[in-house]
Amino acid sequence: MFNVVIFGAPGSGKGTQSERIISEYGLFHISTGDVLREQIAKGTELGKIADSYISKGQLIPDELMIDILSQVLDANPQAGKGVIFDGFPRTIEQAKALKKMLALREAEVDVVVGLEVEEEELIERLLKRGQVSGRSDDNLDTIKKRLHVYHNQTKPLKDYYVKEGKYKQIKGTGTVENIFNSIKETISKL
Ligand code: ATP
Ligand code: MG
Repeated sequence: MFNVVIFGAPGSGKGTQSERIISEYGLFHISTGDVLREQIAKGTELGKIADSYISKGQLIPDELMIDILSQVLDANPQAGKGVIFDGFPRTIEQAKALKKMLALREAEVDVVVGLEVEEEELIERLLKRGQVSGRSDDNLDTIKKRLHVYHNQTKPLKDYYVKEGKYKQIKGTGTVENIFNSIKETISKL
């Protein structure tokens, strides 16, 4: 099992690069944002709960999010070959849970691809996406809240993975192709 965590602020390009990575390496893509938005679109109970957090720019509580992730892993045998985790973990608590879940499968996080983009560009990208995404969280007010949450709750994970020797910093600006090439180069050196 080869497991990649794609890490970065909202709008850093996690989803875009994940698509390139899955087609290159045949990994299974788990985007927690997509999973939650699917539930919202279907109008499920879980979707209603998720929507109440997402529209405010807040994180879904750890316990619930960890439960959802573990269900997605269990329900998808294709994940056995390896997964790209997009949007998870977002807290240290989630990272510890992921470590345990993978250990049960005699696996681990092999690399954390950290997409680094300056704040100004993040806001610009998210506002642009908001014009077409229809996402309740792609508006200036919520974007600012999400960036705040990112700095407080998610960014500390960088240090956590640096200490584990897994964090690889990637410049997240430039063309999609160039960014993908630096990811490939990083993975080839592992
Ligand atoms: P990007 O644009 O880089 O793909 P993003 O932050 O815009 O990232 P998603 O990853 O799609 O968007 O997440 C959207 C929202 O879903 C988050 O702001 C949060 O409310 C919720 N969410 C997604 N993953 C998690 C998680 N692991 N823990 C808690 N909440 C989550
Ligand atoms: Mg995304």
